[in-house]
Amino acid sequence: MSAAARKDPAAVETEVREKIHLEILKRTGAYHANDHILLPSGQHTTEYIEKTLVTTEPSFTEGLGAVIAKHFAQWPVDMVLSTGPGALILSHCVARAHPSRPIVVYGAKGLSGGKRRVSLPVEFQRLIRPGAKILLIEDLVSTGSTLNLLINLVEQLGGLVVGIGCLWRRTSVELDNRPVFSLVSRDFPTYDPDKCPFCKRGVPLNEEFVRRRHARRPSSVQEPKEA
Ligand SMILES: [Zn+2]
Repeated sequence: MSAAARKDPAAVETEVREKIHLEILKRTGAYHANDHILLPSGQHTTEYIEKTLVTTEPSFTEGLGAVIAKHFAQWPVDMVLSTGPGALILSHCVARAHPSRPIVVYGAKGLSGGKRRVSLPVEFQRLIRPGAKILLIEDLVSTGSTLNLLINLVEQLGGLVVGIGCLWRRTSVELDNRPVFSLVSRDFPTYDPDKCPFCKRGVPLNEEFVRRRHARRPSSVQEPKEA
């Protein structure tokens, strides 16, 4: 019997599905793999994801949102809540596909005195009635700190977090034992430059993403000043 045949069928299915989702993310141009990439931290890695590009293909986002909705279909959901533009697009797709027909609301995230902070517009606050069942949606979860703040916020307002759905989650993230469903669960291996196996083999280093980050200046236009 081969090693693959001995594997738990559910694990094999998860692995296959994850490969399909990675392929979808690759087609949006957001996911780069099999490369030798310089990270902003100075470390080297083989994979990189450009968060802003993840939700640029509506049919892909709808398909991925439907997979998340299907996973949570057995739980009644009153509201889908997210922060950030990418997660908001995904949360709309999840809500559209969920049998409970939940409403979609969104918070804002930012920094206050060097600390992360999430807030919810006043108009949305009164929609979270005591006991409201809330599904949190995020695009990429790297540290989990935004989601943990969002959980605190919902609970302060008397709502119940029924689950967390995301596209990508680093496997090392802890979310307070909440039911988390992610289409991809993956950590990138990262290396210090002096210990990097790709540097040792002389593979050229791709500095594109770091360069782009340093030279990051969004396109903008402005109203002319009054004469
Ligand atoms: Zn290297």
